[in-house]
Amino acid sequence: MSGISNPTTFFGETDVNRVSFLRSDPEFVRSALSDKSSIFVPFISGEALMEGKDLLTINLGAHEELQTIIHKLLPLLNTKEIRIDASGVGLTFLGLKETLDSSFEYKSTYKGTPYFGINFELNDDTTLIKLQDISLLSQYRKVGREDIFKLSNDVASLYSHAKMYLDWLSKYKFCPGCGSVVYPIDAGTKLQCSNEDTSIRCNVRDANVNNVCFPRTDPVVIVAMTSRDFSKICLARSRRRYGDFIMYSTIAGFMEPAETVENACTREIWEETGIRCNEISMICTQPWPYPVNLMIGCLGIVDFNGINEKISLDHDAELLDAQWFDTEEVTQYLDKYTGGSLLNFKDGIVLPGETAVAYQLISYVCGKFKKANDSKL
Ligand SMILES: [Zn+2]
Repeated sequence: MSGISNPTTFFGETDVNRVSFLRSDPEFVRSALSDKSSIFVPFISGEALMEGKDLLTINLGAHEELQTIIHKLLPLLNTKEIRIDASGVGLTFLGLKETLDSSFEYKSTYKGTPYFGINFELNDDTTLIKLQDISLLSQYRKVGREDIFKLSNDVASLYSHAKMYLDWLSKYKFCPGCGSVVYPIDAGTKLQCSNEDTSIRCNVRDANVNNVCFPRTDPVVIVAMTSRDFSKICLARSRRRYGDFIMYSTIAGFMEPAETVENACTREIWEETGIRCNEISMICTQPWPYPVNLMIGCLGIVDFNGINEKISLDHDAELLDAQWFDTEEVTQYLDKYTGGSLLNFKDGIVLPGETAVAYQLISYVCGKFKKANDSKL
């Protein structure tokens, strides 16, 4: 990891082609869903399962129970009966994974193994699919947070992709315009209002544009602040506890409506640290499935003039501390880091490890510092 070019973040690696334009083609969705080569990432009550040390995936052709379930669901696609409350199942198409041995193809153009996320929220009295229908899954344990960060990035990214859609399908059950039930369309990537009574106005169903509900993503800005020559980096300790560790990291906050990324960064920086930032640029982004965030990793350049860089924690009570550290010193500890969720820094302080976008940003500043000083030699 040089830290100089845009890094690939954890949860940010994609190896399925989402072919988003095919989701609205029922023939494609049906054929992908019933193809024996298709792979499903199963979830129970919103959480995926582990098979040993890896994420459990199921090949449709190898599991008769799953084939029976899909057979029951196929006629219900794009109808009210597919709702998770009625069927017990949330289902979403993730994409086609192009591999040498994939046999599935559509219209001789789109090839690859179809991937789906499937979530079972069963009620034996009311849902179409019952507990006995998923007995094949009972032998597996649910994924824990610590499991995820030990997965390879491509698998963790697949998990994150499935989890965000399935979480949304499971939580959003009613139309925000009229309160009628909504049901998934386009292979579980949009929700349609079920209200057919035209005398009742629904500002979702009757909208001229976007007359469906889309999944949400909540953007969060996360900024590494540095001096223009990269010799200083500002790291902060939040009030959030990290076990027995004293963690210093970059600062972060949710973007608000009608805010640019740049404005959100400069606002968060000033509110939390009192620092006045002069320039914002985006370095990398990271999907974060807890629950549906997009971390927008930025660099904030501060022109030191005796005022801009002055730290004040008096505006917002979010931080316990913020300090300007010598980038050279941070770089020394970064160079010793060999992986893991925490990076040891001086005085018992830890910095976030490589799965966090904050690490990528700190590493980026250190890389820039090194490069600037190499060129001086
Ligand atoms: Zn509605």
